Amino acid sequence: MRLIIMGPPGAGKGTQAKFIAEHFKIPAISTGDIFRANVSEGTELGIEAKRYMDAGEYVPDEVTNAMVKDRLAQDDARDAFILDGYPRTVDQVSTLDGILDSLGTKLDGVIELVVDPEELIQRLLKRAETSGRADDTEQVIRHRQEVYTAETAPLLEVYGSRGIVIEVDGMGDVDEVTQRIDAALPA
Ligand code: ADP
Repeated sequence: MRLIIMGPPGAGKGTQAKFIAEHFKIPAISTGDIFRANVSEGTELGIEAKRYMDAGEYVPDEVTNAMVKDRLAQDDARDAFILDGYPRTVDQVSTLDGILDSLGTKLDGVIELVVDPEELIQRLLKRAETSGRADDTEQVIRHRQEVYTAETAPLLEVYGSRGIVIEVDGMGDVDEVTQRIDAALPA
């Protein structure tokens, strides 16, 4: 099972990716988490990524793609994974296609979490009170939504044309959303 979970910032990708990962016993790979781990460890990658992240911009494709290539080459991700936060640009879609082609495999599904824009802002502002994330200020939150709409939302059409998008209502309780995803995924 090779899955992607997509949706705007605040849609609940990370939360739901963890449930799916546990349920199917597959690794959840979050580019945001990997970047944040590198930032807190002060690695070269972290130092480079931080200035983009703090501004709500995407880290350059070449940096992100190289990082994901490395991660997907690890043993635990060989047969199955759920990607959270990647791909986010058309260029990243091509890179992922290339990685999967070279393994002779392809994606099984793209879960799209659909949430009202105002609800997204409210959730992120609430998270900001406890997350300590430098990119959880209102101005940066609004900018991240714009970047998503411009750069990432178009990917849903790309995957849509391949017939692999599974649309899931992301409004309501975490548990309700998990159940909807469970019901929508192949057994
Ligand atoms: P969000 O809450 O916006 O979904 P994430 O935790 O997934 O945030 O990512 C945080 C930040 O890390 C992004 O705003 C971006 O700067 C960087 N990032 C994560 N994934 C990618 C990616 N695939 N391409 C470029 N930048 C990324």
